Amino acid sequence: MPAPNFDVIVSLAKRRGFVFPSSEIYGGMAGFWDYGPLGVELKNNIKAAWWRHMVHLRDDVVGLDASIVMNPRVWEASGHVAGFSDPMVDCRSCKNRFREDDLKGKPSEIACPNCGNRGTLTEARQFNLMFATHVGPVADTASVAYLRPETAQAMFVQFENVATSMRRKLPFGIAQIGRSFRNEITPGNFIFRLREFEQMEMEFFVHPRDEDRWFAHWVEARHAWWTDVLGISDERLRLRPHEADELSHYSKQTTDIEYEYPIGWSELEGVADRTDFDLRAHAAGSGKKLEVFDEEANEHIVPYVIEPAMGVDRAFLTVLVDGYTEEQLEKEKRVVLRIRPELAPIKAAVMPLLRNRSELVERARALTADLKRLVPAMYDDTASIGKLYRRQDEIGTPFCVTVDVESLDDGAATIRERDSMTQERVSLDLVPGRVADLVAGRTGWQGVPRE
Ligand SMILES: [Zn+2]
Repeated sequence: MPAPNFDVIVSLAKRRGFVFPSSEIYGGMAGFWDYGPLGVELKNNIKAAWWRHMVHLRDDVVGLDASIVMNPRVWEASGHVAGFSDPMVDCRSCKNRFREDDLKGKPSEIACPNCGNRGTLTEARQFNLMFATHVGPVADTASVAYLRPETAQAMFVQFENVATSMRRKLPFGIAQIGRSFRNEITPGNFIFRLREFEQMEMEFFVHPRDEDRWFAHWVEARHAWWTDVLGISDERLRLRPHEADELSHYSKQTTDIEYEYPIGWSELEGVADRTDFDLRAHAAGSGKKLEVFDEEANEHIVPYVIEPAMGVDRAFLTVLVDGYTEEQLEKEKRVVLRIRPELAPIKAAVMPLLRNRSELVERARALTADLKRLVPAMYDDTASIGKLYRRQDEIGTPFCVTVDVESLDDGAATIRERDSMTQERVSLDLVPGRVADLVAGRTGWQGVPRE
């Protein structure tokens, strides 16, 4: 089935507690969204999957958690103060602001796209995308600081501390997950383009002679992560090398991993060869040498950097879009979020077949408590079993466990798997271990169709 449009996803996300508009009772705020009870679980699972594969499973990458507000000289050296901007045009009449590249003609010659007045548009002015704030009690130009527009710069600025304290030789990487802020003029498409967002970036420092080999390695490794770890459909993914004229000023080569969203192919992650641009810029800005000693050549060198960088929010959106499926069953339609069990906010939901039978409720509640020690689980008896299944399908819960009247005799319960809707009958005391093994992929599912 084709990817669902954003409206379907936005509606599901709000209805089921994944994502809400920020400060909604006050009318919301463009470019800001809140993650609800299920959203925060899914988001944490995506971040954990990234951290595990980028840091824990490798010998050559370590982590960092830097502050959001940094010395403003960082952003002068990086080029963000001077260059991180878009040319903007204002309307003197309706006060709307537009990106110059969105206008169909010269500002002086066209009508305002919003109010239709002529001669009210200003010439284009550079508009910096960094959010500025003031540090300390005095709000003057000397106290200006910025909310970071990317996490990457902290890895360059802390390069020497990390390399020294962890006794690192090339090649090695520094990974970070954290919030970034950009005053986007046209945020939109749900959580696709945000003003406050979370990034997962890794700066991999290599000897300049190895840059091509490592660039190819990271393009391949990151592509494989999307398909093998996040379970994203490969036919909706493609690699797109940047043309020379679209490369960022710091990049020698960049390949985007793109996903086919309902709005078309768009960037999901970028792998950039940043060369020694950043370390040299910060060496010049700080007056410190940011080098490593190369034993082979017996000299100090400035490493090159290969950077895989992505947004957590966009990964979250992609998991929802890619996992969303509608199926026609015999009597009804069901919506299923086919996401990897590791990513699912809740791994197992326990329900008594009859909620007015206290022995069943008791056992189901005790089983939920046992499950919770191993995996995120929940108890629910607020509707009929069929309805409870549908609710869990829609939020991607891989396993539902039903305690029925037979359980009182055989001490077993029925586990039902989300995608196949087949079932296994498992002894109550073995259910938690069985579910945990299935979620972790340690054993396979052996369900049989319901008779
Ligand atoms: Zn106007």
